[in-house]
Amino acid sequence: PGVQLPHDPEKKTLVVLGSGWGATSLLKSLDTTDYNVIVISPKNYFLFTPLLPSVAVGTLNPRSIIQPTRYVTRHKTRQVSVIEASATEVDPIAKTVKFADTSEIQGEVAETSIKYDYLVFAVGAEVQTFGIPGVKEHSCFMKELEDAEKMQRRFLDCLESAAFPGQSQDEVNRLLHMVVVGGGPTGVEVSGEIHDFLEEDLRSWYPELANSVRITLVEALPSVLPMFSKQLIDYTESTFKEAKIDILTKTMVKEIKEKSVVLQRPDKSIVEVPCGLVIWAAGNKLRKVTQDLMARLPQAQTNRRGVAVDAHLRMEGTDSIWAIGDCAATSYAPTAQVASQQGAYLARILAQIAKRDNLEVRLKTLQDGPQTEETKPEIASIERQLVKTEKLRPFHYSHQGSLAYIGSDKAIADLPFFNGNLATGGVATFLFWRSAYLSTLFSLRNRTLVATDWIKVKLFGRDVSRE
Ligand code: FAD
Ligand code: NAD
Repeated sequence: PGVQLPHDPEKKTLVVLGSGWGATSLLKSLDTTDYNVIVISPKNYFLFTPLLPSVAVGTLNPRSIIQPTRYVTRHKTRQVSVIEASATEVDPIAKTVKFADTSEIQGEVAETSIKYDYLVFAVGAEVQTFGIPGVKEHSCFMKELEDAEKMQRRFLDCLESAAFPGQSQDEVNRLLHMVVVGGGPTGVEVSGEIHDFLEEDLRSWYPELANSVRITLVEALPSVLPMFSKQLIDYTESTFKEAKIDILTKTMVKEIKEKSVVLQRPDKSIVEVPCGLVIWAAGNKLRKVTQDLMARLPQAQTNRRGVAVDAHLRMEGTDSIWAIGDCAATSYAPTAQVASQQGAYLARILAQIAKRDNLEVRLKTLQDGPQTEETKPEIASIERQLVKTEKLRPFHYSHQGSLAYIGSDKAIADLPFFNGNLATGGVATFLFWRSAYLSTLFSLRNRTLVATDWIKVKLFGRDVSRE
């Protein structure tokens, strides 16, 4: 009854959890004729995260930076099943995945499980709150598409409430104080985008409010952007100073209240600062499904940063699960660049494994049958080929550079260059940033949508209507 999953008993079943950077890159390169492929993800689309902060201030339309996963899979040689559901439990011994429809509308069946031969675990990470009171209730995250949409609505709500007649100047100042927590690339990019919105649009649409808008970036460490070179950190700090974005380093957010943030300053004193909006960009933590899976293999899985993998990205303690992207603990930063290279690598490994599996099946058939003068050379040849397929190349990451938008039509880039490093910042880098992101977008459709949004904003400004 209902939709049946394609199942060729001759092929192994490959289940892919996730539809983000790692999973999508894998799906793009995977030869789907080798496997029964099933993708399970609570989002039925791929989200181009680098441009998410641009959605939060209305520079880009939310739909311009997503691509339905079925757009990727429909071009594959063999049908791929895409299921919109969250994996809730992975059993590495029984080789099963339990998954549930967690969306608003559910049918009579909303939970089931599936057996896999091979599993690609690419569920990403979730927002780290450190259990700090009020973070979940009173701040906006910047991780999912709905986070950016929520921030845009709240931001515009703050502006309209500040414009309400009779508001005291103190209340206007509070409503227009935007606090960004976390000086990693996400926090820096969000601050830069809010600043652009202020300069390019608010000054025209809300001239009476524009001078009261304040942006504060709070970072617990001594500097923002620790992964960039010192020169680019300085450049970012001076650009922010010119843009009147206050950076508070060595300052820790201790609590978020409905109308304020509680900060611990470098001298350990505590201050409560009134604000209208808090954006929480304080990093990642593991998802529950990842923690639960790791807990099933306590001997092999002891790394608290994520799923421990071997040089071929295979989960330690298993023979049939690979972990890629932000959920895996490797020596690389949790970035889209790493996840997508791991996905492409895994597609090659899975092709090699499919070849090996097919050879093993053929070998068994030959060995179980009568040994003749004709079968003997074939058996010898298969045995030689099998030795070759046993040798899998380890994953090797090739760093293409770090790039971040910092507002005011400026971007920074640390690029590996002639065996050295090129650190550049400024307007030319901004144009490079735009073209680099345009070319990395997965489809012509998304490239067209994003480029059109940029042109629309240049011509008509951002849309300030609150949905
Ligand atoms: P994700 O891309 O997060 O994908 C995880 C997938 O798993 C999602 O489809 C999710 O819906 C799905 N999922 C979640 N739970 C389950 C479950 N229970 N079962 C099944 N599926 C599940 N990196 C860069 O290199 N350059 C950048 O410019 C950059 N900019 C960024 C900007 C922002 C605002 C953010 C938040 C991140 C940025 N990153 C950037 C980091 C980059 O997005 C991540 O490193 C990357 O997304 C990791 O890929 P992933 O496949 O591991 O996870
Ligand atoms: P992050 O982990 O890089 O930065 C979070 C920051 O928040 C840290 O510097 C931390 O010290 C600070 N912080 C944590 N708790 C705090 C508190 N209570 N008070 C004040 N500060 C606090 O997180 P991110 O910026 O979301 O980035 C996550 C990953 O995604 C990184 O690997 C990053 O490289 C990648 N990314 C890359 C880009 C880019 O290349 N342009 C953009 C966004 C994200």
